[in-house]
Amino acid sequence: HKEVKKIACIGAGYVGGPTCAVIAYKNPSIQVTIVDQNTERIEAWNSTKLPIYEPGLDHIVFTARDGIVAPLDHNLTSGKPMTVQLASTMNGGTLITGLDGHDELCPRPLDLGHAPNLFFTTDMSSAIADADLIFICVNTPTKDSGIGKDYACDLKYFESAARKIAEIAVSDKIIVEKSTVPCKTAQSMRELLEANCNPGVRFEVLSNPEFLSEGSAVSDLLNPDRVLIGSDSSSTGVSAAASLSDVYSWVPRNRIISMNLWSCELSKLAANALLAQRISSINSLSAICEATGANINEVSYACGLDRRIGPHMLKAGVGFGGSCFKKDILSLVYLAESLHLSEVADYWKSVVAMNEYQKCRFTRRITHCLFDTLTGKKITILGFSYKKDTGDTRETPAVTLVRNIFAEKCKISIYDPKASEQQIWLQLAEDGGKLEKLKSRITIHHDIYEACEGADAIVVATEWDEFSNKAITPRGPSAWTPSSILRGVSANGNRSHTPTNQIPQGETFSRVAPTPTIAILGGSGTPSRLPASIDSVISRN
Ligand code: NAD
Repeated sequence: HKEVKKIACIGAGYVGGPTCAVIAYKNPSIQVTIVDQNTERIEAWNSTKLPIYEPGLDHIVFTARDGIVAPLDHNLTSGKPMTVQLASTMNGGTLITGLDGHDELCPRPLDLGHAPNLFFTTDMSSAIADADLIFICVNTPTKDSGIGKDYACDLKYFESAARKIAEIAVSDKIIVEKSTVPCKTAQSMRELLEANCNPGVRFEVLSNPEFLSEGSAVSDLLNPDRVLIGSDSSSTGVSAAASLSDVYSWVPRNRIISMNLWSCELSKLAANALLAQRISSINSLSAICEATGANINEVSYACGLDRRIGPHMLKAGVGFGGSCFKKDILSLVYLAESLHLSEVADYWKSVVAMNEYQKCRFTRRITHCLFDTLTGKKITILGFSYKKDTGDTRETPAVTLVRNIFAEKCKISIYDPKASEQQIWLQLAEDGGKLEKLKSRITIHHDIYEACEGADAIVVATEWDEFSNKAITPRGPSAWTPSSILRGVSANGNRSHTPTNQIPQGETFSRVAPTPTIAILGGSGTPSRLPASIDSVISRN
């Protein structure tokens, strides 16, 4: 099979960026070019402040994009360490160019580890023209109009990327579907490419869905549970799959799974549907716990010990968020409906319905905690991203919370460690609220203490470690003092009034004077990492 030397990736988002940066990092001999039509995003990828936050991503990108300090710098003529920009073999030695443009000749071959091999650009045409293999990593949102509105996956960006490839390519390419797409998309893709391509050009379409989880994208990519490669069974299909498999050079071979294209496409939708279904299942049980006095954390723990069930994705919370779960379940529902499998469609629909119910239930709980009226009160929302360790706010349950409590005429302060102010406003305004009106009663803070100052209730909406692990040191006369923060319901359901100056993980806290402050722990996102459950909400102290 053919060796892949140049890769292009269309779409420099949460998937394209980290995935192809790791591919470049792990394959110094492959040139990887990531393209996007969004100039601002590409500029950010080329800067020192990357457009997305993921633990460990800076190191991967900077190494592959900028090159690393030559490890054998004492072999250089000058003897000084230098950051390599370009390296080539010359007269049995290595000619290297530093970032400052300065050339050095090392008299023997150098294992440089990394000369830059990761590039970000808006120049789609040359990236496509040069590449042997092209990942399509564009967004595939839910359709907002036309046939399949609110359910079907909108393939307009995907199709436009494919058309561009067909238009530009003058040599054979392997096209890899990395975006999450409906079952059988590869077939339409192949037909579209073949109908529009330049004479003599051949395409092989593979499916290679991405299973990274935001917030742990780099470690998921470095150590994936599995890499799925779907191809057709022709010899060219199998050979293209083998070429792609080599690109995952760092992944143990037994974790690279080959399968037919349709299974591969469907496996991604199925995996997300199953993960979301566990969250909705445990959330539904949390409602029963609250009504009966059972503790959802105990129930979850007890069930998770059963090896057939397992502990992951089994923590109750405020509901799942993020750009994928809801969209992918709806896409599955649409698929089932188009296959006239209405019972199947209804089953998966209920997973989304339970999630909406949970978000609204939590809002009601907040209001109830505050004597059933929020008018004129100040509510602080800690955390706005849909889960910890990401700045991503797409479909975050925090939007529903803010929207619902805003309607109760309270003032709202928001603090999130990574979600940008601009992103938060955008998200809130997108959700139907007029920005001006929102700004009259909502403030976004960059300082957690300022955000919490004088609040009647603090709602922990995202499980960022800093809300649970960091000591909240008293500041100013009206700030909390250790003795004025009481523990709420402890993990085993008993109330303990141990003074503490930390927001206790998995628990709530309250300030006694001058006005009662109630911390209401929600949590969101991937509930396997949630510290808290709705059940641990304290009403009043
Ligand atoms: P994103 O919105 O962050 O990134 C998509 C990028 O593609 C954008 O920057 C956009 O400008 C660019 N783009 C769109 N059309 C283009 C075109 N024709 N030419 C050039 N650039 C174009 O989306 P994402 O979160 O990276 O998701 C991408 C896909 O991966 C989706 O199908 C999603 O379902 C799937 N996925 C996402 C995750 C995740 O955690 N975010 C995980 C697994 C799979």
